Amino acid sequence: MQLKDSSLFKQQCLIGGQWISADNGATITVTNPADGAVIGAVPKLGKKETAMAIDSAEKAWPLWKNLRPLQRSDILRRWHSLIAENIDDLAMIMTMEQGKPLTEAKGEIMLGMSYITWYAEEGRRVYGETIPSPWAGRQPMTIRQPVGVTAAITPWNFPMSMIARKASPALAAGCPMIIKPAGKTPFSALAMAELGQRAGVPDGIISVITGDASVIGDALCANPRVRKLSFTGSTEVGKKLMASCATTVKKLSMELGGNAPMIICSDADIGQAVAGAMGCKFRNAGQTCICVNRIIVHDDVHDQFVTMLAEKTKGIVVGNGLEAGVTQGPMINPSAVASMQAFVDDAVAKGAKVILGGKPDVKGGLFYQPTILTGVTPEMRVFREEIFGPIAPIMRFKIEEEALALANDTEYGLASYVYTRDLGSFYRIAEALDYGMVGVNEVALASGEVPFGGVKHSGLGREGGRQGIEDYLETKYILLGGLSA
Ligand code: ADP
Repeated sequence: MQLKDSSLFKQQCLIGGQWISADNGATITVTNPADGAVIGAVPKLGKKETAMAIDSAEKAWPLWKNLRPLQRSDILRRWHSLIAENIDDLAMIMTMEQGKPLTEAKGEIMLGMSYITWYAEEGRRVYGETIPSPWAGRQPMTIRQPVGVTAAITPWNFPMSMIARKASPALAAGCPMIIKPAGKTPFSALAMAELGQRAGVPDGIISVITGDASVIGDALCANPRVRKLSFTGSTEVGKKLMASCATTVKKLSMELGGNAPMIICSDADIGQAVAGAMGCKFRNAGQTCICVNRIIVHDDVHDQFVTMLAEKTKGIVVGNGLEAGVTQGPMINPSAVASMQAFVDDAVAKGAKVILGGKPDVKGGLFYQPTILTGVTPEMRVFREEIFGPIAPIMRFKIEEEALALANDTEYGLASYVYTRDLGSFYRIAEALDYGMVGVNEVALASGEVPFGGVKHSGLGREGGRQGIEDYLETKYILLGGLSA
């Protein structure tokens, strides 16, 4: 890997400020999904090292929580600057382990940085309140305090920004964080930890552990000293983690699967809707929890939309994300490719029409063709399940109620989108969509400033915005008595 600073490529884990390997030397090999080449290996750690990370976090916590918010803010801002200075190397690491095109990798790193600057400042505004008293001679008040040791389990589709989004509010609030990154993309996490060390994050305040996910996950969930778990990943694993955390009654943030609808009304700017669908469907080869999963188009504009979307989709260049001009990288692993084919085959068997793609790409390997399906119905798996790949399922509607019923007919509730120029339908639809987020004539939802999160089986809590720090804080009520003269 050609890095300007090769010391950002870490093949060890960070625990209590020490870079360590497994005692028995066990490792997990990490490969590049674009060509299958081995990139490197990370330690296969388990229960013992997880306990070490929790101990070191607990030991480091008093010092960290007693720093002034401005001191923590200074460290977070230094972390932000170091990430900015090393963005080319971080993007290279990400593209090699995850597959997304370099420009997307840089975009993701900038998104991650937006959380760090936001929480560097938001940590300075953790206000308590004085409450108008119902009693004479007594004054109720609240202060807000860090919850304690926190843990994050993060996915492979956004290897850097998911860590920034969790670690920066934790650190700003005064909490240590133990991070278990996805096994397929550990190097972005380890590089972030290295830059955190350089920025002055004290030993034990950020630890990164790689290894067997369920062993580390169980050790984090079962430990009463871990007070909060933030997870981004599948609904299936999220539910398991919620159950495991019940025994120790932890605070939980869960950002789980999605099944985003995009409603395109008859009055929509179709060019804008096509651009939105392109950005939101094919980014990261469709491996995004807020990817549009079902495009619900008004009958009057359906054919025009499909023709224009197909034209644009033909322009997607599939290939290795390191190559100039590539706009869609590989899928993460062979089972993701097989799952795309199973989705297409199921839809076709139930009457959908393949307008474009529908097969593994001619490049072979883990590349799958950008695919457009029409005539999709609720009986098809592409309607019911999170696709997590470059398949755009399209269906028609005639009246608004029908579109809303289709859009809300899912157990998920993360992102949703609507394209319209009519003020009434904009507000009616945005209000009626049973989702945590609605993009109106826009699909780029995330940034440090805004609350990202879902309802129903898509999760709990919000990340980003002034809301995102709440889960790392406890409100303490103090009643001051004996005030009567
Ligand atoms: P994805 O389909 O995005 O890989 P997962 O939910 O499988 O979603 O993985 C998200 C994160 O959860 C990864 O870091 C993965 O290693 C971790 N993970 C998977 N299974 C478990 C488990 N049983 N306990 C704890 N973490 C897990």
